[in-house]
Amino acid sequence: MPEPSDTQTRHDQHGRYPQAATVDDFQHNLAAVRTRMDAACHRVGRDPAGVRLLPVSKTKPEASLRLAHAAGCRMLGENKVQEAFGKWEAMQDLTDLHWSVIGHLQTNKAKLVARFASEFQALDSLRVAEALERRLQAEGRSLDVFVQVNTSGEASKYGLSPEDVPAFLRALPAFPALRVRGLMTLALFSAEAERVRQCFILLRTLRDQLRQSAPASIGLDELSMGMSGDFEIAIEEGATVVRVGQAIFGARPLPDSHYWPGEPSTEEAQP
Ligand SMILES: *Cc1c(COP(=O)(O)O)cnc(C)c1O
Repeated sequence: MPEPSDTQTRHDQHGRYPQAATVDDFQHNLAAVRTRMDAACHRVGRDPAGVRLLPVSKTKPEASLRLAHAAGCRMLGENKVQEAFGKWEAMQDLTDLHWSVIGHLQTNKAKLVARFASEFQALDSLRVAEALERRLQAEGRSLDVFVQVNTSGEASKYGLSPEDVPAFLRALPAFPALRVRGLMTLALFSAEAERVRQCFILLRTLRDQLRQSAPASIGLDELSMGMSGDFEIAIEEGATVVRVGQAIFGARPLPDSHYWPGEPSTEEAQP
């Protein structure tokens, strides 16, 4: 049986995944991702039921999202609020489809998130927490949130520095409409599996430490980490949510620098 330490990234596939164009394609891709998820769980003795797959539909057109829904997806991740809001508005007929916002939020867009999202995975400032709380109160809604942590040390990545997370969590009970579920991170984008793994280990270790000191109302059960190129490593290190776009929907037309400013080109990540 392969050892977890043998697990490599799949960043060499980045930008090359074929487009899913039919419900069958989506079913096939979802099954293939689940098989890889289950194998990763198996390697470390985890129950596959403890890992949620969040399909990420950013940049994909409405027709593609509808195929994903027909293939069984009931929550979709989007990283740009305006785009997500437009898709939500266009797909109101799919009443069982829920939305997770996984990208950085500006306070002036908190209003949109409060209106339609079920989950927000990129909380990293009290100003945003405050704006969300006010808008959620006005809507009579609440929101599941994840605190985003910068585990790669890259200045270009959003998220709190690990050392700033304890004080941040202590401030969050002041925002009762935010149901804190856990932590989220984007690992280093690198073909060096060991360095990627260190990011995930850091998030899990931080979570385990915070469990001793965090306020009782702050949930820390969830670790959202891992994407198409590295979710198996993330699961081996404790991920409870993996955010997978390209391996389900197909490659995106735009470079990653469009979503994550300062992201290195995929070429640099090749071994
Ligand atoms: C786009 C995105 C993902 C998914 O990346 P893929 O390479 O398509 O799997 C995961 N997390 C965040 C925050 C993203 O913006």
